[in-house]
Formats: sequence, C-alpha cells, structure tokens
Amino acid sequence: MIWLLVVLLGLALGSFFNVCIHRIPLGQSVVFPPSYCPRCKKRIRPYDNIPVLSWILLGGRCRSCRKPISLRYPVVEAGTALLFAAIFARFGLSWETLSGLVFVSLLLVMAFVDLDHQVIPFRLSIPGVILGITLSFLPPGRTVDALLGAAAGAGFVLFAWLLWRYVLAGVFRRFGIDQKEGIGVGDLPFAAMLGSFLGLSSTLVALFAAVAVGVAIGLVLQWVGRTGKGQPIPFGPFLAAGALVGLFFGASIADWYVAAVLS
Ligand SMILES: [Zn+2]
Repeated sequence: MIWLLVVLLGLALGSFFNVCIHRIPLGQSVVFPPSYCPRCKKRIRPYDNIPVLSWILLGGRCRSCRKPISLRYPVVEAGTALLFAAIFARFGLSWETLSGLVFVSLLLVMAFVDLDHQVIPFRLSIPGVILGITLSFLPPGRTVDALLGAAAGAGFVLFAWLLWRYVLAGVFRRFGIDQKEGIGVGDLPFAAMLGSFLGLSSTLVALFAAVAVGVAIGLVLQWVGRTGKGQPIPFGPFLAAGALVGLFFGASIADWYVAAVLS
C-alpha cells in the first residue's frame, strides 16, 4: 500500500516537474495557467494529463493538434517514480527518505534545465542549498557535515573551472581540440547544494563519479562527433548522476575506501 503511494506520488510530482523544467527558465509561473500543449497552446484536459498512461494512450501525440509530444514527459514521470521507490527501498520510513525525495526532485529539475539551457538558474540552485542545509537539522542532525559537503562541492567546481581555464584548455588547444568549457558559474551553487544534502564523504564520492561519467560520455560524444565545435557539454547532468551515486552508495564506497586504502 505504501509502495503504491510512493510510486503515485512520484508520478504526480514527475508530471509537475515537467512543467517546472519547461517554465522556470522562461520565468513563467508553474501553477498558472494549467497545462497546455506547447505547440497548439490548447489546454490539456485532466483525463489527458495522467502521468505516463496518457502519453501511451495518445500515442505520444497531442489530442487537438496531433503533433508529437516529447518522449521526455513520460520519461521524467516514470524516472521520478523510480527514484522515489529506490529512495524508499534504501532508507525506509525515515527523515533520510524525506530529505532524499526533496534532493532527487531538485536534481532532476535542475539537470534537465541545464540540458535544455546550458545553465542552472541561481533562483533554483540557491534555494536548493538553503533547503539542503535546513533539512540537515532533521534528526539525527548533520549540519556540520552538510556545511563541509557544501564547501567541498563549491570548492571543487571553482578548482575545476580554474584548472580548465588556465591549464587544460591550453593543452587541448595544442592538440587541436577546441572544446569550450562545460563548467559554468551556475554549477557552483548546484555543487554546493549536492554537498549540503550528501555530507562530506558522499560528496567526494559523488564528485569523483561525476567526473568519471562526464569524461567517459564526453569522450564518446567527441568520438561519434555529436559535439559540434564550440558546443559545450553541460556539466550539471553529470553532477546530478554523480549525486545519485553518492546518495545511494556514498556511505558504503567511502567505508570501503577508508578500509582498503587508508588502513
Ligand atoms: Zn497540441
């Protein structure tokens, strides 16, 4: 029963997150007007607005204009439900679950906004940091760890940006690769937000995972020629992917590392 609730909550919020991803960067309200087709602007009727199901029943097309509706909508809805279920499976009925649900929600919206616009707006990421630190007061209380994590996240982005700007970009250029930087100022509060939710050791795991995933996908994209010249790959989605690794496996990876390497 409670599992059903968790999944339904994920689907419903996923549907709302689609609206957020679409409207927040445009500076529009996320509550008004009600959902409409981005192409023909017709209002979407409640029975056509059921997460995932409506998209399948309508064959991925708008009922009025028959233009295709992006596959992303059902993917975000199903993905939110899946992440919510995974968090509940991992942390059970606890404050950690509450904090985890808020965290993945923020990650999801910001990662997709970054994919679309190559920027994570401060009006999303700054409240995210504040929320992460606020939730760290929940029992058992891990506020110092949250602040350390936030500092580590922000410090990492600053360091990576400086390293790219003053060292790596020159090296790449010498080899004839003109890759624009994918790390921007918007990533700084975003990484601080990750840190505030994850705490120090899981943040380090998350950053390492983000760089590993980012380098791997960057190389693949370069290899298949999907990145045109001067088209930066946004780093936010990789940070978000790394954050999920940190959230689910950070504690065990950190323990393993301490046991295997430092002892
Ligand atoms: Zn339409």
